Amino acid sequence: MTGSGVNGMISMEGGRVEESIGELRRTFRSGKTRSAAWRKAQLKALLQLIRDNEDKIFEALKHDLGKNPVESYRDELGVVEKSVKYSLSHVDEWMAPKKSSMPLIFFPARGQVLPEPLGLVLIFSSWNFPISLALDPVIGAISAGNSVVLKPSEQAPACSSFLANTIPLYLDSKAIKVIEGGAEISQQLLQQKWDKIFFTGSPSVARIVMSAAVKHLTPVTVELGGKCPTIFDYLSSPSDTEVAVKRVVGGKWGPCNGQACIGVDYVLVEEKFAFHLIEMLKKTIKKFYGENPKQLKDISRIVNKHHFQRLRNLLEEPLVAASIVHGGLIDEEKLFIEPTILLDPPLDAEIMTEEIFGPLLPIITLKNIEESIEFINSRPKPLALYAFTKDEAFKRRILSETSSGSVTFNDIMIQVLYSMPFFSVNYLQRNPKNKNKNKNSFNCMIAFAVSLRHIALWRCGTERVWEVSWEIL
Ligand code: NAD
Repeated sequence: MTGSGVNGMISMEGGRVEESIGELRRTFRSGKTRSAAWRKAQLKALLQLIRDNEDKIFEALKHDLGKNPVESYRDELGVVEKSVKYSLSHVDEWMAPKKSSMPLIFFPARGQVLPEPLGLVLIFSSWNFPISLALDPVIGAISAGNSVVLKPSEQAPACSSFLANTIPLYLDSKAIKVIEGGAEISQQLLQQKWDKIFFTGSPSVARIVMSAAVKHLTPVTVELGGKCPTIFDYLSSPSDTEVAVKRVVGGKWGPCNGQACIGVDYVLVEEKFAFHLIEMLKKTIKKFYGENPKQLKDISRIVNKHHFQRLRNLLEEPLVAASIVHGGLIDEEKLFIEPTILLDPPLDAEIMTEEIFGPLLPIITLKNIEESIEFINSRPKPLALYAFTKDEAFKRRILSETSSGSVTFNDIMIQVLYSMPFFSVNYLQRNPKNKNKNKNSFNCMIAFAVSLRHIALWRCGTERVWEVSWEIL
């Protein structure tokens, strides 16, 4: 039974969980993590870590998921950098006591709300954005003055190992530790008492985490997945179809090749337009990924054999296989699945009942696009709902008659660009002819949120990202 030699990184073979947690708790009780100076020093050190190790992070992401540097900067490093900077500029404000009004009868008493850290925070992260989904909650925990244990996903081993080896070199290892491992280690951690657990992952594991948390009445935040529908109201804006299709393709096969919790899961379209939509999707896939996407080095691969097999099983169900209208090529050795489109697979097949989390896109046809509301309401609540429509009355119906983590009109996934919560209504339109000034100023905010660095990377990167991001709809 030996522990790791590096201070903040722990090998659980050593059974040192309790000892390490004891150290973290002592550090927290000492009051050290509460000061603004400590919080800011840790945040700055994290920023330095990201800047010093950019190439190593790109390498780890390439190793685990085949992510290209443009995607890695946009979805991982850039996200962390922005988050650290945002926190650095808001820590003082977050820590400041807030005045609270008191009833006149208690005059001259005054009320104050004092924010205080919770204590010891346990973070479980997922493998699909293994750097940003690990570090973003760490930034939150540090900013609030807590001690932290990060347990990265074992399914992105190079990123997990990078975090475990590098974090102790930059951050205060008496207050912030990384523990690597899978379900067994997670179970060990869950037996301890925590003051907060932040979990990103699947609903089935979230149930295990929440059940364990009950014992100590530990508050838990769970960031889960789900099926994200995209309503394609072709009729309301036929002239914009080309841009809309580019956004669907970029949103489906762009970030992590479909392995994204808020990516497009399936598309709803009126049956009379399905053929045209599919033809346009095929044309756009060809334009973005070429005749032979398997040769392309810029498209992320499926994370591992387990998930490859899961996706293969979805496709191999006979009635689902019969519904493939584009793609379907798979290569287990390269963990590659071609961008694949399916037309009306059976609604009770797993591909339509479970989150797909991969490069498969079912197109579901309806007689009338308004039926999409009932279709969505008859299924579990989506994490994100997208709708391409110019019909204002239909938009209002979508907002008032459906429930989801977020609603985005006429774009895909941009709700994460500018510090919007997943659980919000993102009423985004980017039409310069639109006379509504509020909407246009919002568009400007989004444009400014994109740093020059991003623009440079996008320009020298894939045409796909550039086009998807800047054309007007
Ligand atoms: P997962 O549930 O398999 O794993 C998540 C974490 O839990 C990992 O750190 C893992 O090591 C740990 N874990 C695994 N088994 C455990 C057990 N028995 N007990 C305790 N912990 C255990 O999820 P995943 O495959 O990493 O991620 C995919 C899911 O995450 C998808 O459903 C996706 O939609 C969701 N997700 C959500 C968000 C979001 O922000 N809402 C972001 C990314 C991914």
